[in-house]
Amino acid sequence: MVKNMKSNQASRNPFKNSDSNKRYYTFDYFMKNRFGVKCAKIPIDAGFTCPNIDGSKGIGGCIYCSGGSAGTGTDCLRSISEQYNNVCEIMDHKWAGAVRIPYLQAHTNTYGNIDRIIKVCEEALSLPGAAGLHIATRADCLSSETVEYLAGLSKRTYLCVELGLQTAHDSTAEKINRCHSFDDFLQGYGMLRNSGGDINICVHLIDGLPGENDEMMIETAQKVAQLQPEQIKIHLLHVLRETALEKMYINGEYTPLTQNEYVDIVCRQLEILPEDTVIGRLTGDGVKNELVAPLWSQKKVCVLNDIDKTLYERNTWQGKLYNNTTI
Ligand code: SF4
Repeated sequence: MVKNMKSNQASRNPFKNSDSNKRYYTFDYFMKNRFGVKCAKIPIDAGFTCPNIDGSKGIGGCIYCSGGSAGTGTDCLRSISEQYNNVCEIMDHKWAGAVRIPYLQAHTNTYGNIDRIIKVCEEALSLPGAAGLHIATRADCLSSETVEYLAGLSKRTYLCVELGLQTAHDSTAEKINRCHSFDDFLQGYGMLRNSGGDINICVHLIDGLPGENDEMMIETAQKVAQLQPEQIKIHLLHVLRETALEKMYINGEYTPLTQNEYVDIVCRQLEILPEDTVIGRLTGDGVKNELVAPLWSQKKVCVLNDIDKTLYERNTWQGKLYNNTTI
């Protein structure tokens, strides 16, 4: 039944950047076109910290940060190659022959001494089978010498720099202890965009931040759409154990989005994003044993199916309402 529904949706799909029922430009589709085969991103914790944790910008981190950003935990105790080989072993069973892209994921991977940043990037790129690099960072942690190095790197290989924006609303950024403003983000984004290299930029957004209503989330998507980034990741806010957000949740000061609310907002955001922006992710990965709420998010496939179904039923797709004008 589900298979029939999917093939029906695929045959009626008017969205150009898709060969399936997906009405948005998936990372999988993008990478398959670029490399000719399936791509596997390999998460690596290179042991960087974050200015929002070590006190140089803030202390305690963003209210949802468990300290082991993106769930890589204590991996930094292991070498880059050990982490890579371990994940590759698992991935190879799942997707034999997939292209491998090391992903410097934990914390802020351009925060620190330039020599160390270069050493880590070069080491990651020299891993066996590595066909490019993704680097996660904050827009306020990009020095001119780092951007110059990244621009050069992007001429040698596929490079994507992932910037956590989360929200375009400074009032929300303050609530979540983000310790940077939308203007700070725009400045870092501009440095990458004008670097003279060929850097792919991926912008991360979070839906369901405390105090944000639907219109604020749509407005953030609209502002990012104007920038025309190569990639966007949309996350659902997860309440993780031992975070400031968990305390707010327990005290009744924070209510997570329901699945229906999240699916509705994501579909509306997709409609206003450019059709050629790759959607790197539509569901976040809360580490299972750390996730407090919302528990429905553990069923990622159901959430993604709901998004596909809703786009189909609304007869809409990514970019249908894209409007390249400032709001
Ligand atoms: S910027 Fe990332 S690593 Fe730093 S505190 Fe926020 S979520 Fe954690």
